[in-house]
Amino acid sequence: MSMTSADPIANLATLIRCPSVTPAEGGALTALAAMLEPLGFTVERMTAREPGMPDIENLYARIGTEGPHLMFAGHTDVVPVGNEAAWTHAPFGAEIAGGEMFGRGAVDMKGGIACFVAAVARQIAKNGPPKGSLSFLITGDEEGPAVNGTIKLLQWAAERGERWDACLVGEPTNPDQLGDMIKIGRRGSVSGTITVQGVQGHAAYPHLADNAVRGVIALTDALMHPPFDAGTENFQPSNLEVTTIDVGNPATNVVPAQAVARFNIRFNDIWTAETVMAEIVRRLDAAARDERLRPGRPPLRYDIAWAERPSHVFLTRNDRLIASLSGAVEAVTGRAPKLSTTGGTSDARFIKDYCPVVEFGLVGQTMHMVDERVAIADLETLTVIYETFLQRWFGDARA
Ligand SMILES: [Zn+2]
Repeated sequence: MSMTSADPIANLATLIRCPSVTPAEGGALTALAAMLEPLGFTVERMTAREPGMPDIENLYARIGTEGPHLMFAGHTDVVPVGNEAAWTHAPFGAEIAGGEMFGRGAVDMKGGIACFVAAVARQIAKNGPPKGSLSFLITGDEEGPAVNGTIKLLQWAAERGERWDACLVGEPTNPDQLGDMIKIGRRGSVSGTITVQGVQGHAAYPHLADNAVRGVIALTDALMHPPFDAGTENFQPSNLEVTTIDVGNPATNVVPAQAVARFNIRFNDIWTAETVMAEIVRRLDAAARDERLRPGRPPLRYDIAWAERPSHVFLTRNDRLIASLSGAVEAVTGRAPKLSTTGGTSDARFIKDYCPVVEFGLVGQTMHMVDERVAIADLETLTVIYETFLQRWFGDARA
């Protein structure tokens, strides 16, 4: 076997030195393939295409033909470096200083991939190939539009007969220290745009006009209050944020005819995308008839346009998957990880349609920042956690 791939530090340095800013492959998938093939994986590259969008390279690698089948999922693409001059060390240099490795993708999430490869390499060296099947589902389109990435790669693999029993996503999940947090679900997300139609007029003769600003304030107020819910056992309360209100009226003596507001709601498992959208429409219709800000007026005229592709809320309830990962984290770090559903969406929202999915990776503090970096000690610890998880999951799954 390749000794290099058993070393997460060497793996990560190799991956960081590939400038794979979305949509560029940057050599990262080729480098990953070169780590996996000597271990016995069959590696396939799948290029996804969509009109008007850059082609995206993705990778699927599998070892084994029997069940149970565990998937490790992630992405090798990274966000842009931002102000390169502000970096202490070159963003694609993988330099080590003060016990940390610097580079774009160090924690989000080339580090997670580097550790998982190392864990697999060590397990194969010690115990031979897994008692079942293990696959890597790695996209180059997570940080971008995510259209040519995990969604299409899952479809492509499923059409070829691939079936999985469980998935671990290696995104950075720990807020402060390795062992803080496993993600076992995610809130859903829906965005929309409201356009209010009033009647333009003179600010001194408002009775002849219908100020769209009064209307948009009434509608957005109704979206923000009262709270949608108080949270659930596994989820924080649903929350709606109005992200912009645009009127664009430069005159002081003109009442504007139109106002546009946009919003995003992160919702918990009390709701589905459909029911939360219905609740939003119910609130807007009630507010449109509310005369507090528009006394004596007929119901407000407005349109709502929903953003494409809502993210559906999900909660993973696979006890074996959660117990083997949580147990591995606690065995290695001595800390019981919090099982959480907080934070933004991830590609787990697509994977959950195929198999139970959880997420655990590095400490996320520097992700997307200048000087993204990872503690060298954490790379070794995460590798041991992943190794322990592999032993437990394959052991438990066959029990
Ligand atoms: Zn990521």
